[in-house]
Amino acid sequence: MALKSNIPEGPLADKWTNHKNKINLVNPANKRLIDIIVVGTGLAGGSAAATLAELGYNVKAFCFQDSPRRAHSIAAQGGINAAKNYQGDGDSTYRLFYDTVKGGDYRSREANVYRLAEVSTNIIDQCVAQGVPFARDYGGLLDNRSFGGDLVSRTFYAKGQTGQQLLLGAYSAMNRQIGRGKIKMYNRHEMLDIVIVDGKARGIITRNLISGEIERHSAHAVVLGTGGYGNVFYLSTNAMGSNVTAAWKAHKRGAYFANPCYTQIHPTCIPVSGDHQSKLTLMSESLRNDGRIWVPKKIEDAKAIQNKSLKPTLIKEEDRDYFLERRYPAFGNLVPRDVASRAAKERCDAGFGVNATGEAVFLDFASAIKRYGKEQAYIKGLDENDENLVNTLGKEVVKGKYGNLFQMYEKIVDENPYETPMMIYPAVHYTMGGIWVDYNLQTSVPGLYAIGEANFSDHGANRLGASALMQGLADGYFVLPYTIGNYLSDDIRTGPISTDTKEFDEAEKNVREKIDSFINNKGNKSVDYFHKKLGKIMWNKCGMARNKKDLESAIEEISALRNDFYKNVLVPGSADEFNEELAKAGRVADFLELGELFAKDALVREESAGGHFREEYQTKEGEAKRRKEFQFVSAWEFNGEPKDAILHKEKLIYENIEVKERSYK
Ligand SMILES: Cc1cc2nc3c(=O)[nH]c(=O)nc-3n(C[C@H](O)[C@H](O)[C@H](O)COP(=O)(O)OP(=O)(O)OC[C@H]3O[C@@H](n4cnc5c(N)ncnc54)[C@H](O)[C@@H]3O)c2cc1C
Repeated sequence: MALKSNIPEGPLADKWTNHKNKINLVNPANKRLIDIIVVGTGLAGGSAAATLAELGYNVKAFCFQDSPRRAHSIAAQGGINAAKNYQGDGDSTYRLFYDTVKGGDYRSREANVYRLAEVSTNIIDQCVAQGVPFARDYGGLLDNRSFGGDLVSRTFYAKGQTGQQLLLGAYSAMNRQIGRGKIKMYNRHEMLDIVIVDGKARGIITRNLISGEIERHSAHAVVLGTGGYGNVFYLSTNAMGSNVTAAWKAHKRGAYFANPCYTQIHPTCIPVSGDHQSKLTLMSESLRNDGRIWVPKKIEDAKAIQNKSLKPTLIKEEDRDYFLERRYPAFGNLVPRDVASRAAKERCDAGFGVNATGEAVFLDFASAIKRYGKEQAYIKGLDENDENLVNTLGKEVVKGKYGNLFQMYEKIVDENPYETPMMIYPAVHYTMGGIWVDYNLQTSVPGLYAIGEANFSDHGANRLGASALMQGLADGYFVLPYTIGNYLSDDIRTGPISTDTKEFDEAEKNVREKIDSFINNKGNKSVDYFHKKLGKIMWNKCGMARNKKDLESAIEEISALRNDFYKNVLVPGSADEFNEELAKAGRVADFLELGELFAKDALVREESAGGHFREEYQTKEGEAKRRKEFQFVSAWEFNGEPKDAILHKEKLIYENIEVKERSYK
């Protein structure tokens, strides 16, 4: 099937308005006749479900947690971007569009990104109206901070809990509709297949995670807001439950999977502490506004810090290498995440790492504490030269801005980051790849839509900080509710979709057989054993740096691991009860297929772009080197084994932005 991105004609700035003016609408009375399934109630799915129900559609919403409030979105810390230009520092729709396309290393679709920048401002108004408590400045106006890859301050935030506050907003909007009976909420339900009838998505098969019951649900359209697949690496900053199953099942039913190899490795995470770990913790990017990243200049100092015979605070200023400020003077510590991550890896690989394993760099707030302290002393008319006073005042300011993050760090590492610099190291954080969608957010299966992190759409090869929340809410509140109407306008006379059909029979049978095969396998290795092994292959061979040889061996190893998994996995318990191991087995089975496609995609992409760094394609200075021939989206069609997947290319055309060498110097 040919890829049709359905980008509207006309000038970039008018495309979305013209499109909205022209697409078909479903009138309010007819919306009552239409059912929509929304799988996922994080920021993307939650905002979509609330808005679609508010419009009058009958929504059935699903999540695997015990409440929508526990979606992974709740973990988002730093903020959400919007081109409001409240700071008067030169922001605009075009600039946000430009930064996002450049940040994504010129691998995203212009029209989608422009629309995202355009609706970004509506998101803030919507959320403020819902009562989301965004941070405010002294005068009571909404405050902003800056994030990596931007030269303006456009990030709205609620301390280090922006995701939580936004999710409470979306959840309240959903609850209103649940109360009205317009949303039927299915908590603790996991979608395990999509049902396609006459080429259209018409339903899903779910498992009730508490009782084990397999259920059929039908609708006129299905929306997936099921999040990203970073946990293919086992260790990541994602919630433990985040998985690819819904997206992968959709892929197996005909939805193309785009750019699976584009993964974001975030520079500011708490370093790995040992083999026992199952989760990594993000230290929000907002910390790079004030924290300075460094390692010792002298190798002997680095060694002494590694074996704990020297305290970092004793290293003199001139013996510190603020490597981001040195290499990228214009953006300094606020270079995009891929650039910062690779720079940290480069220093650690050269032996300058600062923890026992040599895989950590410092994030230091001493300068910020001093700067803020002096400012406060001046404002209060106190002695700016009193070091103790300045220190106390400075810490108060830092606490006000990042207090909960500092507390979290101290709890995990047992060191006080106000007194000694934090240690950080890159970790898997976000997946830019995902289900391919057209301009209307429709997948290659008619009637099946994908929103939020589950789709591939707006971030190209690297996502800028604070842009995921923006995209998820743009999709859910402002884009999908329009575009899905165009599709559903053909369905106003269809009537309810029956679940008593051969397509539902076949999908349910598939799901039951898979579950039974796990339970009956009676192997001798746990699901986690395989997940950890997969994660190691992914991190070592498909991680921050990739090369042909490693990728080829990753493909072999993942395929062999998958065979071993099906032979030897042990899933205790039964299918008709709460069985977390069973749920995990299904998710890891899908990761084992996705992982191979991921490596294949990385192998085929013979260039470096954003989060995808192929060692063979780099500049003399070690920066990523794009290649014009690869200015396309890879959209993979399922064809049996991952190795047989068929590649379709969506060429990316840039008419409104000049494709330049990406530089943050
Ligand atoms: C630690 C951390 C901090 C972050 N901070 C920021 C930030 O400051 N700013 C920013 O812009 N971005 C941030 N991000 C990224 C951002 O949080 C995510 O990209 C975004 O929240 C994803 O939202 P979503 O709605 O697409 O998916 P999610 O929030 O992951 O929700 C997925 C939903 O799908 C459901 N689901 C999944 N599979 C199934 C299934 N098979 N059946 C039923 N339900 C299913 C889940 O139950 C859940 O409801 C951060 C990410 C992390 C990890």
